[in-house]
Amino acid sequence: MELFRKIPKIDKFIEKEEFKKYPLDVVTKFTQEAIENLRNDIKNGDIKNFQEEKLVESVLEKIKILFDPSLKTLFNGSGVIIHTNLGRSLISEEIYDAVKPIATSYNNLEYDLEKGERGERYVHVSNLIRFLTGSEDALVVNNNASAVFLILNTFAKEKEVVVSRGELVEIGGSFRIPDVMSESGGILKEVGTTNKTHLRDYENSTNENTKMYMKVHKSNYSIEGFTKEVDLKEMATLAKEKGILSYYDMGGGHLIDLPYSLSNKEPNVKKVLETGVDLLSFSGDKLLGATQAGIIVGKKELIDRLKKNHLLRMVRVDKITLALLEESLRQFAQSPTNLVALDLLLRDEKKLEDMATILKRKINTPTKIIKSKTVIGGGTTPNRTIPTICLEFESDKKPNELEKVFRKNMVIGRIEDNKFLLDLRSILEKELDTLGQVINGVLDE
Ligand SMILES: *Cc1c(COP(=O)(O)O)cnc(C)c1O
Repeated sequence: MELFRKIPKIDKFIEKEEFKKYPLDVVTKFTQEAIENLRNDIKNGDIKNFQEEKLVESVLEKIKILFDPSLKTLFNGSGVIIHTNLGRSLISEEIYDAVKPIATSYNNLEYDLEKGERGERYVHVSNLIRFLTGSEDALVVNNNASAVFLILNTFAKEKEVVVSRGELVEIGGSFRIPDVMSESGGILKEVGTTNKTHLRDYENSTNENTKMYMKVHKSNYSIEGFTKEVDLKEMATLAKEKGILSYYDMGGGHLIDLPYSLSNKEPNVKKVLETGVDLLSFSGDKLLGATQAGIIVGKKELIDRLKKNHLLRMVRVDKITLALLEESLRQFAQSPTNLVALDLLLRDEKKLEDMATILKRKINTPTKIIKSKTVIGGGTTPNRTIPTICLEFESDKKPNELEKVFRKNMVIGRIEDNKFLLDLRSILEKELDTLGQVINGVLDE
């Protein structure tokens, strides 16, 4: 009974200094819960004593889950430039700043200022996309997954879509071509085998119910050895002969020629369109280097048909996406390295070595600068590596222990040959100062 009398009064307890910066109703709710639990514990004889500070702590913990940011910034020392788990392509501060007025003021998102009547939101980016890709027209939706869905739903409902068995892709996050196809209403017509698909396979499977030949980028695997795939140009040409549509889900589309001879295998959007393919879709935040979006380019009459599909409303982009995309494309047209992902990709080894040297000097523990290889990521260039420079940590701690303490301090690295590394490829130059300080803090722990 003595214990019951020690339970703090709620109205006094919630006025404590520790709670001052949080809304009173939230503090009250969690305090009531904590005191209720405490009463039960005392009643059941589960506790013999309690301290008020512990009670404050437990209430604070609950409040913080609500009020402390869950999304946090971190240092990406994994080397993967387009890391799906770490936010894919970054938006530069310049681009972000340029977009702020559009987000915080009324604007002409869907208003034709000349005619004084309702306009179309897609016009704000279509000129730039047409200019940069050479396509007749363009449409932007929420992401590339919705682009694929919208295209299949618009053109292939209850119709057959021919896809090679070597391209029935599953991408992370349960995007699987056969499932997207059936949910869109299209009928998947698989042709060829896992390792070999010939042009005649497309031809032989074409009937009066065939609406489209679809090619899918093998984003996270490659098929090696005894293989044959039909190239896009052949597929598009055959489609024209047969009077049906051709469509390429390119995955991560890029507008530049990729370095390190990656371009041979991964031509840019412009070159892909030159094959004569009718429709092409790709992500805005993979190798384009802009923001999350699905970009559809191709024949104007087909884009017009897509715009008439009511489902477009469900996958519509908002003003911030459009503003970020517009600004990113404009800055890209000035110089591709204005986009962070492309800047990171195009930095040469000398530049990375200089950065590694600067970082090494800031760190109070022995590290070694080493050459290594990394990947672009985001399913853009499967099984292909690019050169990079890393800092290797010499420590008594096991690499997985180091990885863990770094991670707890918001520094993500990677383990290679049983060594913990920070890869400079995905570290920004402006981060070096703070990163050095954080690392010293981590190693002092
Ligand atoms: C990444 C990818 C998608 C999905 O794109 P999101 O922008 O993530 O929606 C679809 N198809 C392919 C081939 C991809 O690589």
